[in-house]
Amino acid sequence: MKICRFDDNRLGLVEGDEVRDVTAALEVLPSQRYPLPTVDPLVANLPRVMDEIRRIAPSAQTLPLAGRRLLAPVANPGKVIAAPVNYRKHLEEARGDASIHFENQVHEIQQIGLFLKATSSIVGPSQGVEIQHPDRRNDHEAEVVLVIGKAGRNIPRERAWDHIAAYTGGLDMTVRGPQERSMRKSIDSYTVVGPWMVTADELRNAQELDFWLTVNGHPRQRANTRDLVLDIPTLIATASSYYTLHPGDLLFTGTPEGVGPVVDGDVIEVEFGGIGRMLVDVRNAQGRYA
Ligand code: MN
Repeated sequence: MKICRFDDNRLGLVEGDEVRDVTAALEVLPSQRYPLPTVDPLVANLPRVMDEIRRIAPSAQTLPLAGRRLLAPVANPGKVIAAPVNYRKHLEEARGDASIHFENQVHEIQQIGLFLKATSSIVGPSQGVEIQHPDRRNDHEAEVVLVIGKAGRNIPRERAWDHIAAYTGGLDMTVRGPQERSMRKSIDSYTVVGPWMVTADELRNAQELDFWLTVNGHPRQRANTRDLVLDIPTLIATASSYYTLHPGDLLFTGTPEGVGPVVDGDVIEVEFGGIGRMLVDVRNAQGRYA
């Protein structure tokens, strides 16, 4: 099942080039009172929501996907975990290019582990990327993203798949510089998620998923998840040995070689096999007090 959020917080079932408006399926979610749980309610109740989507979809309004404003498919993730330098050729690329490494030693992921991105940086593809420091190099990083479905800590590799609810695509946007990753990669709009999530029952080849990215039509990145240094089960085992994973948490699996700068006016196109394709506009942020 391909589930999107679109337009004015509508819930959609994507079918080819159309979307069924299944917003009414959200009625099965429990009402909540403060303090809110540390989960995304949609993902935490995904099996129930999917049952309701199946029930109401036949009579739901169908709209063309073209022209819809796509939002991030997970609205309230508790955290965004990300893997740095998780493709061998990207490690070599980063070590060889001073405008990427900025005299930071680029260590292997086995040594430096994972990092977190602020949830306030999340946008959907329709919202685009707003470059916050246009005087510096701002890069795209295409990444396959896991949506955690079941809570767990110290998850063994062989149980990792049980904890994945869905897959989606992501751009781990990055301003290059000497600061900590969590600062440079947490700028508003620097975590693009979309175009929708594909539930795990429907996507069976996550370990050999092709994906590619172009900027203004020019090829930049092309890779396959079989070349991950830490594979998907290892990423979940590693992450959950530090943080409890909660339903709705997102895990960015890392970017391959071919990262490069984007500037005001660029259009990023990125496609993840078995998931979907999204267009993301890049523009400069307004530098005003807000
Ligand atoms: Mn990244």
